[in-house]
Amino acid sequence: MHQAVVNKDTSFEGIFIVGVKTTGIFCRPGCPARAPKIENTEFFSTAKEALQFGYRPCKMCRPLEHAGEPPSWLREILTEVNSNPSLRLKDYEIRQRGVDPARIRRWFKKNHDMTFQAYLRSRRLNEAFGRIRHTSKVTESAFDSGYDSLSGFNDAFKKATGFVPSQSGQRNIITITRILSPLGPLFAGATSKGICLLEFTDRRMLETQIKILRQRLNAEFIPGKNEHFDALDQQLGEYFRGQRRQFDLPLVIPGTEFQQLAWRALTKIPYGETRSYGQQAQAMENPKALRAVGKANGDNRLAIIIPCHRVVAADGSLTGYGGGLWRKKYLLDLEKR
Ligand SMILES: [Zn+2]
Repeated sequence: MHQAVVNKDTSFEGIFIVGVKTTGIFCRPGCPARAPKIENTEFFSTAKEALQFGYRPCKMCRPLEHAGEPPSWLREILTEVNSNPSLRLKDYEIRQRGVDPARIRRWFKKNHDMTFQAYLRSRRLNEAFGRIRHTSKVTESAFDSGYDSLSGFNDAFKKATGFVPSQSGQRNIITITRILSPLGPLFAGATSKGICLLEFTDRRMLETQIKILRQRLNAEFIPGKNEHFDALDQQLGEYFRGQRRQFDLPLVIPGTEFQQLAWRALTKIPYGETRSYGQQAQAMENPKALRAVGKANGDNRLAIIIPCHRVVAADGSLTGYGGGLWRKKYLLDLEKR
C-alpha cells in the first residue's frame, strides 16, 4: 500500500485510505501531494475509519469525493465545511445553500456509510482532539511548558466545540485518548483519580458527554497519556478476548443521585446475563422509574465498563443502545459464549 502511495497509483482508488500521522490528514492512494515516509503512515479501508481515528480529509485529493464522479452540487458545501471544521449546519441552513438535506444524507450514507451530521461531528471533534493525537510532540510540549500552551489548546478547543473554558481558578485535567476495540475506536478520558469517559467515537452523545464532564469536573481536556490508560487498554483487551468478566479500574462518575444509583445497579448485573428496565427499576426499589432508568442508562459515560448493554426490553429484545444495536448484540454474544 505504501508503494502504491509512492507511485501515486490511482488503480488503488477505493481500496484503501492512507492516514499521515505527522499531519493528521488522510488521503487517497493517488494523492498528488508528496508521499509520506512509511513509518508515518497508517492505512484504513474507508474514509469513515480514518475519521474515527481523528484524521482530517486532505484538501488536495479530497478523499471524501469519489474519483471520476464529482458531485457538483456537493462540492461547494464540502469546501465550506473543510475550510471551517467547527461548522454546524441545521437542515434549513443546508437548504439555504441550495442543497437538499435528504440528498446529502443519502450521498454520505452511500459513499461513506455515515450521515452528514456524523461527518460534521467527527470534523469538530477531530479539530479539537485529533490533530494533537497525531503530533504527540505538541502534546508533550503543551504539558512541559504549562499554562500558555494549555490555554492555546483551550482556544482551539473552544473554537472547535463552542464550549466556553471555565473561568474559575481551579482547573482539573481530563486526559483523552483513543483506544482500538473490535467494535471500532473508543474515546477514553481519565483524570488523575480514574477513568471518567469511555465511548465509541461515532456516538452522537459524545459531544454532550464531553461538555457535561467539563462542567461537572471543572476540567480541561488534553489529549495525551494518563496512568490509567494502560490498565484500561489491557483490561478491555482481556474482555474482548473473553478473558475478563469484571473491570478493576478506578472510576470517576459524577452524576445526580439517581444516576449514581442507576449506574451502580448496572454494575450488579452479572456477566453473561441481562435484565429488563423493569427489573432494574425494581433493583433500585423504585419500580415506577422505568423511563428514568432508561434515561440514566443512556447517560452512562462508561460504555462496556458500566454494562448498560445488559439491559434489554421486557420481552428480551434488544432496544436502544447509544453505540448502536449491532454493538449491543456483539457484546451480549461475547458474554454468552
Ligand atoms: Zn491527499
